[in-house]
Amino acid sequence: MSGQHAMPARYRVTSSQGETADTVTLVLRPVDHPIEPHQPGQFTMLYAFGVGEVPISISGPADGPDLVQTIRSVGAVTRALCAAGPGQLVGVRGPYGTDWDVGGAAGRDVLLVAGGIGLAPLRPALLSLLAARDRFRRITLLIGARSPAELLFASQLAAWRERGADVEVTVDRAAAGWAGNVGVVTQLIDRAEIDAAATLALLCGPEVMIRLAARALCARGVAPGSIRVSLERNMRCGIAECGHCQLGPLLLCRDGPVVSYQQAAPLLAVQEL
Ligand SMILES: Cc1cc2nc3c(=O)[nH]c(=O)nc-3n(C[C@H](O)[C@H](O)[C@H](O)COP(=O)(O)OP(=O)(O)OC[C@H]3O[C@@H](n4cnc5c(N)ncnc54)[C@H](O)[C@@H]3O)c2cc1C
Repeated sequence: MSGQHAMPARYRVTSSQGETADTVTLVLRPVDHPIEPHQPGQFTMLYAFGVGEVPISISGPADGPDLVQTIRSVGAVTRALCAAGPGQLVGVRGPYGTDWDVGGAAGRDVLLVAGGIGLAPLRPALLSLLAARDRFRRITLLIGARSPAELLFASQLAAWRERGADVEVTVDRAAAGWAGNVGVVTQLIDRAEIDAAATLALLCGPEVMIRLAARALCARGVAPGSIRVSLERNMRCGIAECGHCQLGPLLLCRDGPVVSYQQAAPLLAVQEL
């Protein structure tokens, strides 16, 4: 299978943009050959040479050989990737995993709910919805961030609104000058106009947010089968061989990260040992 090479392809960082204090967006250009084309929601295994390899979602559109990936620095490998400047080489395997399948949402309302860095894997889905805006009914993006300073892609929200998305933001903690919503993202769900039968919901963020948001949507009448969630587990191989990312019967590097909430709900109710 061509997308499943175990050897990383070399990519060169062509730009590195700070998004927040701990999050960077890298644009990566293939040195030898590009990986296979990707779909919104898929991820790559990014290798910081000599440090290690981690799964990172693709956060930009699939309109050329360059890869756009947004990385939050939390440990050794993500720290090394966030520090990679223009000219530096990284390794890329993939693309891996399931996607948001936004094409299948034609004629429906699409509701995207993002928490924190979870906006990064949802951005390519939003961009592809906006690129074919007429094919969908209402497009709503609800974003939760810990504070205004941690809001990702803040400078792009106005353009997304202009292109036909309803975008609402809430923060856990306000800061001086913040006149917007304060509270958790489920409060935005409670206030949103939702045509339950027509809605496809896409959820990405911390697992507790996913659980609460999915429950709030079910309470509004959205069917669990019309809610897709992106689940993260510790991943090593990316090709369903090592078992690190097992969740019940699923190997999330292959069967996820995007799964139906109908399938995920009983698995999320059980805490992992
Ligand atoms: C499918 C998938 C897509 C992802 N997409 C992105 C992305 O677009 N941007 C991004 O910044 N991160 C993403 N992650 C998370 C990223 O892979 C982890 O942050 C990274 O593996 C941490 O490695 P490290 O060596 O820097 O830190 P480590 O030293 O390994 O870990 C540092 C801290 O992060 C926690 N951690 C480690 N792995 C994960 C994980 N998979 N999920 C949550 N917490 C973790 C650890 O428990 C520890 O507290 C994704 C993960 C998966 C599974």
